[in-house]
Amino acid sequence: MPLYCENCMKLVEGPICPTCRNRKLKEVEPGDFCLVAEVHYMQAEMLKELFRDNDIPCTDRSVLGAGITVNLGVNVGYTRLYVPYDRLDLAKELYDAYFNAPDIPEEQEAPRTLLIGHVYRHFKGGLYRVEDVARHSETLEEYVVYRKLYDDKSLWIRPKEMFLSPVDREKYPDAMQDYRFEPVEENNAEDPE
Ligand SMILES: [Zn+2]
Repeated sequence: MPLYCENCMKLVEGPICPTCRNRKLKEVEPGDFCLVAEVHYMQAEMLKELFRDNDIPCTDRSVLGAGITVNLGVNVGYTRLYVPYDRLDLAKELYDAYFNAPDIPEEQEAPRTLLIGHVYRHFKGGLYRVEDVARHSETLEEYVVYRKLYDDKSLWIRPKEMFLSPVDREKYPDAMQDYRFEPVEENNAEDPE
């Protein structure tokens, strides 16, 4: 039987606990709660549920102490999870499966398509109608040709890639939309004048 430190609630090689220097180690018994892992408190909740589903009794200790809370009473620390020695192998298997589960790949974001003839709102609020896409004769780069729908109704061009790009959040942290230009719902696209 492996040796067990009752102070640290974990299995140790012995003869002295490397964590607390305890020399009074005992042989572990099936019901001794043993450390499975130290995890972020949010993961601890998931793991406790996983253990519960597998009929593994589990106790936990907050590493920073129970008193540490921030706004909203959320415990921000790390949590140590313990299960009885006779369920430790299963708990560790579940723990490994939980943490080594392949990440579900994030859905690739579809490239944004440009809607010709559509009204777009600039992130600063102005409305523009996309007239067409033109190609630069020297660089072959595509440009969006778009008309301002207010003031002088002037015609503008801008590289298509830039037209479809996100707002620079560092420069404009308070922007109300994610993209520099976003298409406006048809029924809101009335020319304000
Ligand atoms: Zn110890």
